[in-house]
Amino acid sequence: PFARPYWPQCAGALAALTAAAAAVLSIGAILRAVIDRGFAAADPAMFDRALLLMLAAILVLSAATYARVALVAWLGERITADLRRAVYDHLLRLSPGFFETMRSGDILSRMTADAAVLQLVVGSSASMALRNLLLLAGGLAMLLLTSGKLTLLVLVAMPLVVAPIIMTGRRVRKLSKTSQEKISDLSAAIEETVYGIKTVLANNHEAIERQNFHARIEASVAAAMLRVRTRALMSMLVIALVFGAIGGILWIGGHDVLAGQVTPGQLSSFIFYAIIVAGTVGALSEVTGDLQRAAGATERIFELLAARPEIAPPPQPLPMPQPVRGAIRFDKVRFAYPSRPEQPALQDFNLTVQPGARLAIVGPSGAGKTTLFQLLLRFYDPQAGTISIDGRDLKQADPADIRRQIAFVAQDPVIFSKNAWDNIRYGRPDASDAEIMAAARAAHADEFLLRLPEGMQTFLGEKGVRLSGGQKQRIAIARAILRKAPILLLDEATSALDAESEQAVQHALEQLMHGRTTLVIAHRLATVMQADRIAVLDQGKIIAAGTHHELISANPLYARLAALQFGAG
Ligand code: ADP
Repeated sequence: PFARPYWPQCAGALAALTAAAAAVLSIGAILRAVIDRGFAAADPAMFDRALLLMLAAILVLSAATYARVALVAWLGERITADLRRAVYDHLLRLSPGFFETMRSGDILSRMTADAAVLQLVVGSSASMALRNLLLLAGGLAMLLLTSGKLTLLVLVAMPLVVAPIIMTGRRVRKLSKTSQEKISDLSAAIEETVYGIKTVLANNHEAIERQNFHARIEASVAAAMLRVRTRALMSMLVIALVFGAIGGILWIGGHDVLAGQVTPGQLSSFIFYAIIVAGTVGALSEVTGDLQRAAGATERIFELLAARPEIAPPPQPLPMPQPVRGAIRFDKVRFAYPSRPEQPALQDFNLTVQPGARLAIVGPSGAGKTTLFQLLLRFYDPQAGTISIDGRDLKQADPADIRRQIAFVAQDPVIFSKNAWDNIRYGRPDASDAEIMAAARAAHADEFLLRLPEGMQTFLGEKGVRLSGGQKQRIAIARAILRKAPILLLDEATSALDAESEQAVQHALEQLMHGRTTLVIAHRLATVMQADRIAVLDQGKIIAAGTHHELISANPLYARLAALQFGAG
């Protein structure tokens, strides 16, 4: 399917390939004319004519080869590019559950290394295989025309030559897949270490990581060596068998010439074709290695394309009400993560939040607070019960439409390797510069952003490593302000900020929460005090709800959490 749009180029490449093969094959016939009618008959005019013909054939061959190589390389680039784009587009359609089961390094290597193997094949090996097949068929036909008896010999020898080659080829294919998997292991390990480098260093884990990595490298080298050795064995077999056969033909054919049964020109062109045929068999055994590697790579790439999103818009999604007021309702919801189906993260879960209200969520770690947010964003669907926004069951709505109504500030916000403008613009790509500045100001982010060396133009570094926790949060808040969504999901940072930062973030949050239905996973006293209502979560259930003062006396778990987390006596 990926080649179909480029059928004119494919047809052009095929034509060039056929012309080149025909030109090569004609050279043998011309060679015979040169020897028998030019040399043997001592006819200079005939000799000149034959050589001019040969020159013409060489011209056709070179021009056709140029066209083939250029067209085919172009096809390789284009088709691989289309494939990578299709896979990337598809990845963005998958739900978060998929990325929990698949390591990111694995995805990375499928899209780069495997795609590169495929590019090699589409961009050269496949056409080489085709060209050699044509030459093989044409060469065999010319052999038959030249000498039936010798050709019979060739045909008898052929299975003996080809069978061992095909058998080793199969083995190479299997070994290639293992080898590719080991390389994919390597990139996954590198990615993990690079991403977690500070944790690695802080735990003095370098030596262990190094050992693990060395073991993986050795495993990948061992797998590769086995492949290489098998392939070398195959090359050896090809050369010994093919050239042995040619030697045999030369011997028998030479006796025929001596006996006057064939002309020297016939034997010369026969040898020429035999060498071409032998060459094609050799080349074919080389490229089958590539083709087989590509078969494995293709399988791995198409596995990505075959993954079905668990959360898809229904065939006829119902639109969210316009405008959304922000009433949220969980009704008898039961949800377990796909990777732990028997252990529900939420069960018998009921919750109603009025439009514009502010609900603080507190509870011990693992209680299900983050899960609540993930369900509202429709990253997952509950197994039972309904979740609705303004009465619209989320299962009946398009996930994109739902997410448009929500601004989400994560505990540890993601900063992209772009400048400050683009990082804030992430909340709403069509926002004007003035709107971005206003959002930055409201989030108290302008104070530090403008002090950076290049102001808002400053590159914020890969994953925001050049920013402090409080600064990252303020950028995320600016992003959320820009989003102008009626519902706000806020996962308050647990990390302690310095007093000034804390105050700035608090002011920024006030701005953000204003006029929105807010669900906030609370870690600060100020936040619970300002909430309209507090829900206490434990083991996937709401065990109590009320105001801070009500809960402090009525709910022991809350009282304990409040004392520990908020320092409220
Ligand atoms: P909280 O935010 O209150 O700390 P979570 O909502 O993150 O709690 O987690 C609730 C439960 O679900 C925990 O038992 C946790 O281990 C589990 N959990 C969270 N995320 C996943 C996931 N992606 N896959 C499987 N289980 C998960």
